[in-house]
Amino acid sequence: FLPHLVASLEQVEQSYIMIKPDGVQRGLVGDIISRFEKKGFKLIGLKIFQCPKELAEEHYKDLQSKPFFPKLIEYITSGPVVCMAWEGVGVVASARKLIGATNPLQAEPGTIRGDLAVQTGRNVVHGSDSPENGKREIALWFEEGELVPWTPVQEPWLRE
Ligand code: GDP
Ligand code: MG
Repeated sequence: FLPHLVASLEQVEQSYIMIKPDGVQRGLVGDIISRFEKKGFKLIGLKIFQCPKELAEEHYKDLQSKPFFPKLIEYITSGPVVCMAWEGVGVVASARKLIGATNPLQAEPGTIRGDLAVQTGRNVVHGSDSPENGKREIALWFEEGELVPWTPVQEPWLRE
């Protein structure tokens, strides 16, 4: 039972991370990418992209009934975003921690939103909330040929 549990905790996951238009406009792309890179996750997809309205609506379809939904779609389509696919053991939950709370005023210092933003409606970055949504969102935002499998040389220095 226990070894099985440990093995399942070691599953490689993928997370869809996106720098929103405010992050791009404010010149935060390098800083944000750097945090995931330095942590030790693997970048397998990266592009700058002008998001069409239909894609924004599909990505945020769970929030369709919220009063802020139209403003959210306007925000996400207001300028280019940077789309990323990151891979690693535990990357989904870890990325959420690196990103911080949805409301940047409640996000801890040291997190992306805690360090770089002040308002929920301009919270600079998105991160998948489950491994299932990580897969779903990567498939939504990337074409298959845009994802690149590779082996970082630092691998043995990150994981025993
Ligand atoms: P996240 O997973 O931390 O990004 O938060 P949610 O999944 O709850 O919401 C998705 C995104 O919708 C957030 O990152 C915000 O950009 C936006 N959002 C959520 N709640 C509000 C709100 O109350 N007002 C506004 N303007 N935007 C919101
Ligand atoms: Mg969310």
